[in-house]
Formats: sequence, C-alpha cells, structure tokens
Amino acid sequence: MGFLQAVYSLGEMASEAAKDSPFADVMNFLQLPYPITEAQNGKVFAIRVWLEVDDPQVEVLDINGVADIDRIEYQAIGNDEIKIKERCLYRDPVGSNVSWRFSPLYKLGRGSKDPLKELMGESGSWQENNKCRFYKLYNNLLSDYEKSSCFSEGSTDRIMAGLVGKIDKIIEFWESKTPCFLLFGLKTGDRFLYPGEVAAFVNYFKNKLNPDMPAKKRIAQQTTYCALCGEKEKKLETLDKVFKFATFDKPGFLPGTKDGAGIKEKVFPVCETCYGVLSAGKEEMERRFVNFNVIPKTSLYVIPEIIFDKKEYYRIASDFTRNFLKNGMRNEINLFSLLARVNEGLVYHFLFAEINQAQLIIHSLIEDVPPTRLRQLEELWKETCTAFGYEMNNSSKKGYLDTAISQIIAVLLSLAGKREQDRVVMKERIIAVISGLLNAEPIGVEEIKRLIVSRLASMFTDPDWISPKEKNKMPGRLRIKGMAEVLDFLYRVNGRE
Ligand SMILES: [Zn+2]
Repeated sequence: MGFLQAVYSLGEMASEAAKDSPFADVMNFLQLPYPITEAQNGKVFAIRVWLEVDDPQVEVLDINGVADIDRIEYQAIGNDEIKIKERCLYRDPVGSNVSWRFSPLYKLGRGSKDPLKELMGESGSWQENNKCRFYKLYNNLLSDYEKSSCFSEGSTDRIMAGLVGKIDKIIEFWESKTPCFLLFGLKTGDRFLYPGEVAAFVNYFKNKLNPDMPAKKRIAQQTTYCALCGEKEKKLETLDKVFKFATFDKPGFLPGTKDGAGIKEKVFPVCETCYGVLSAGKEEMERRFVNFNVIPKTSLYVIPEIIFDKKEYYRIASDFTRNFLKNGMRNEINLFSLLARVNEGLVYHFLFAEINQAQLIIHSLIEDVPPTRLRQLEELWKETCTAFGYEMNNSSKKGYLDTAISQIIAVLLSLAGKREQDRVVMKERIIAVISGLLNAEPIGVEEIKRLIVSRLASMFTDPDWISPKEKNKMPGRLRIKGMAEVLDFLYRVNGRE
C-alpha cells in the first residue's frame, strides 16, 4: 500500500459515513454467487480467466484471447459482501433452460475424477458433446454475449480456444474437495477487472434485467474508473483538488507518470466517494499527523497505516499505540522515539513538505517504514552514545533517536555557509540523510566527512567558534565531538543488516 491509501484509510477511520454504491440502481438485484461463511468447509475458489482486450471500456468488447488463468479464494474478491456483489455482478439465472446468464460467471462445482473429460467430453471435442462443461459454457453463457453485441464477432471462439489452450491450469485449479467457479474478467495492466468493473458487462447485466432501458445512455456514464476503489462513477474528481501538492514535480508520488496534457485526469481520477474520504483523511493528517519540530520550517507528515486486520490490531495494540492513533503526534517533541515505541502491525509514511505560496512543496516521501526500523536506528544511536562515554539509562534523553536526528541537523546546518542559498542546499541534504535513515538506504558518510574537513580549517581560525562569547553557544571542542558522534552513528547505520 502507500501514502494515498493510508490517507484514505485515515479518512475512513474519521468518518464511517455510508457510502453510496455506484450500483445503487441495480444493487437490489445483485446476488452473492455463494454465501459468505467463516467455516472452512464453506470455502469456494474463483478461477479467474483474464481476457485480453485492447480497450476494456468500449461498448463492444473485442476479445483477443485468454491472457492468463489464476485462482483466488472466493472471499478474497472483496473485503465485504457489497464489494463481492458489485464485482461478481451475479444474479441467479432466470431458469435452467435459458441460454444466457446475467454475468460471465460459470459454476463448475467440485472437480471430478477425470476433469479433462468433464470439460472437453468423451471424444475430446467439446463442440460435439452437449454434456461437457465447455459445451455448456459456450452455449448457455458466452455465446449470448456475442449475440447481444457485448462481444465482437469471433470473440467467443477466441475465448474457447484460449480456455482449451490453458486447460492444464483449469484442471490444476479445479479441486475435488472445494467448489470452484470460472469468473471472466479483463486484463488491464496487472489488474484483473471484475465483471462489475467492466462497462460492457454492466450494460449487459442491466439489459437483461430491464430490456427497455436504452443502453447508449448508460455507457456514457461508465467510462472511467476511480483510481482508488476501482469503481466507476459518472462524476470524477482529480487528486490535485484534495492535495495542493498533488503535482507532478516528484515522479513516483503519483504512479509513475510525468505530467502532460490530460494525464492527471487519466492517471488519478477519484470518484466522488473516495474524494470525500480522501478529503476527510487529509483533514486528519493536517490536524493530527503533522509535526513541525523536527526540521526548521518544514512540515513532517507521518501517516500511520495499519497493515493487519484493523479490528484485530486495535484489540492487541497497547494503550500507547491506541493513543497515538487517536491523538496523532502534532505536538510531540520526541517524535521518532514515540514512533519507535508503537506496536508492530502498522507502517508509517513520511512526507517532508514545505509551504510555499499556498502550495505544498514535497521534499521527500518515504513509504512503508515499520516501527522496528526506528527501534533499530535508536539502538545504533545508543551504541554510539555508549562508545562516546555516555551512561545509557531509560531516563537519558541523549539515547533518543530524536537526539540523533537533531544532532545530524545541527551538525549539517553548522556546516552550511551564511548565504540563504547555502542553507537551502544544506536543508535538502539534511532531508536526504533523514530520508535515507528511514528508507534503510546507505548514507553518503564520506561526503559528509569531506564537508566537515573542508570547513574545519576556516572554523579553527575563528576564535568565536573555538570559545564563543555567547553563553548558550557551544564551544568548538564540543561541536567536534558532536560531529564525530554523528559520523560514528552513520557508519553504524551503513553497516546495519
Ligand atoms: Zn473511488
């Protein structure tokens, strides 16, 4: 998962407002193909057939063949009943003698002793054996999609040829102990588009449900998908309305695309529902999960994301962790030590940003940092402190990870020149070092060392640096020690497993 999904789930946590299903008009007619049950013997497998198309969102699907076949547990299709219904787009057939189904879902049942014969028929030629599964699949389900102009001419034959070509996979997946069904969807990139996510299948369903409704009108509303939930709605918002920093100046922040005409709308359209949830999440993030204490003039957002089952996580989490999730860390002074003490089962997303003329400029985004990594950093810092003769006990703030971070910042800032531009460059470097720590990347210690050495000469000629007149300014001797501690720590970090 990533930053946006984390913000999204913050939004979900913030408001459990009922979401309007984009299938509101047909929701009452959707059924579950199988009941949902916790029982082990209630298990069902979905054998997914990934159909290959050039364009998944056209009115008439032109199917080139079968790209892949895989198998997932039925209940993994969606995380709740509504999602499964929407995705499967299933409704029981109107009778046993009709030659069409509402959705491209074919129930195989349990596997038999000879699955090849069961699928292809005695002679091995499914077209001639009206008892075999492929014959029934073709005649009672798929061919009507072509007759009803949902598939282009020849598509059904290409699907059948693809199934026969990949029959080994179906046989492998077709369990004798567990009921299975074939579920046809479209391959788009790496994603499987479920029937309910394909405009042509939805239209077909609606036509079968209510043949009087004109299809043309409906397809116009069903052309784009929400980038977050995969659902389609007629009205889409773009991400830059939620985040002032949703610009394309950081490749990688939005999924691997550079800016260009019409790109933003294509890459990250979100439906009205997700737009609402994201906006709520962003409010939460601005309100509770931002900290201004770490780096001067920089907002550090830390978005927690629970990677376990949420309910279960709340049950096992310590009070400390629960408080953190509830209250955030806006005013926390020892931010990193706090983050290191939170229970496992969540990750953090760190976003370093700066406000500039009402725009948020992103400096760095580090995703998926587990608390263990912060604990490891804190342990390494404690090793440094011990090596430099500090007594380490629980009340010693010297051993906090925050001390390490603030010391790195102080050292690097002290090496920056007096000009504003020098300080800006140094700040970039500071953020790069902290990002590297969080992201478990090696830190360029040699470079920092060279920088220190190159500046030392001029510092030693400055009497005020060696023994400052101002009382709260550190004498040079202690500053050198601080630099040595930072270097020692960074070397240890680079040596971490
Ligand atoms: Zn959505």
